[in-house]
Amino acid sequence: MASRFDVVIIGAGPAGIACAGVLAGSSLSVLLVEKNTVIGPKICAGGLTRVAVDFGIPEEQARTFPSQTVHLDEQPPLKIVLNHPLKTVSRTALARHHLQEIEKAANVEVATGTKVAGLTENSIATDRGDFSFRVLVAADGSQSVVRRHVGLPSKFGIGLYYEAPQSSDEVLFQFRPGIIRSGYLWVFPHRDCTNVGIGFNPDTLTAGLAKVILQQYMKEKGFATNGARLKGGTISHLYRGHRFGNIFLAGDAAGLASKASGEGIPFALVSGREIGRLILDPAYPMPEFRRMLVLKRRQEGYWRFFESMPRLQKVLLTSYFTLMKRPWMQAYMGY
Ligand SMILES: Cc1cc2nc3c(=O)[nH]c(=O)nc-3n(C[C@H](O)[C@H](O)[C@H](O)COP(=O)(O)OP(=O)(O)OC[C@H]3O[C@@H](n4cnc5c(N)ncnc54)[C@H](O)[C@@H]3O)c2cc1C
Repeated sequence: MASRFDVVIIGAGPAGIACAGVLAGSSLSVLLVEKNTVIGPKICAGGLTRVAVDFGIPEEQARTFPSQTVHLDEQPPLKIVLNHPLKTVSRTALARHHLQEIEKAANVEVATGTKVAGLTENSIATDRGDFSFRVLVAADGSQSVVRRHVGLPSKFGIGLYYEAPQSSDEVLFQFRPGIIRSGYLWVFPHRDCTNVGIGFNPDTLTAGLAKVILQQYMKEKGFATNGARLKGGTISHLYRGHRFGNIFLAGDAAGLASKASGEGIPFALVSGREIGRLILDPAYPMPEFRRMLVLKRRQEGYWRFFESMPRLQKVLLTSYFTLMKRPWMQAYMGY
């Protein structure tokens, strides 16, 4: 393998793959570095909304839900018919689908099982040697080494879940603001299991309590935890810019996930693709990236208001999800 590349991309998650996809077939030499030997597996509930679905998904391995049901404490459930169905798919199947074009491209090398330990101005140090670059794209997720190198602070949400072996047929969200604060429980049915989880702000709920709440919820819903392993991960949502000299940050490394929903795949895909386009054309104005930032800020603006009004949270959630039944409100929020 060569040791000098025009572009080095760290991380073959949605952001890194989307970036490599744009650069595939160009005149640039590209190295996509991934620490895992298999590309795809990631702690994630695998729920895909409109923008992510538009990037293409393996339909035969996905499930499609035209509606979702929201429970708020013990109030009657709110069924929301979606403008664009929510899909669930395993991250491995999604990555395999997105990688198809890249694998055909002669100018992109994919180095799996290669972990980046550090970097200088124009090279990365990995356990398989050093590689130099003109441009570096950091798509290395919420615990990005490059983000730390750049010196940016980070803020995280946390998600915990079990993959229950039972199948189910309804996407559910459960809000209990008195206990979970701004977090929520979810049920995402997949083809071979049901992903049942809790997403929360660690400043207002401990992981230990979140685990107990999740286990109780699973019992209520009749999902067995026996045998299933608790999985968890961080969701990076503090965006402080995406360009630092010849270094670009994409996806979770840039803090682009939504603090409000914990959703990060659409933001990772859009940012990776837009950064790829900017590398090819330095005058590219990144319109999709700008639109995505507007949506992230809109979602988080509502959530900040919600978090700052503990006494009104129930009323605010009820009004929010009542409005979300309207197609225009879903479109306004990016769904
Ligand atoms: C519990 C949980 C549930 C979630 N559910 C959803 C959901 O349903 N829908 C949704 O849209 N989002 C969800 N998210 C968020 C979503 O998973 C992320 O926002 C998304 O994966 C970010 O994509 P990315 O490409 O930026 O980073 P990642 O997907 O994290 O990819 C980063 C890649 O970089 C590699 N890497 C990291 N460090 C190095 C290194 N040093 N050297 C080489 N390679 C490295 C990793 O192995 C990985 O392959 C969830 C997150 C969590 C924690």
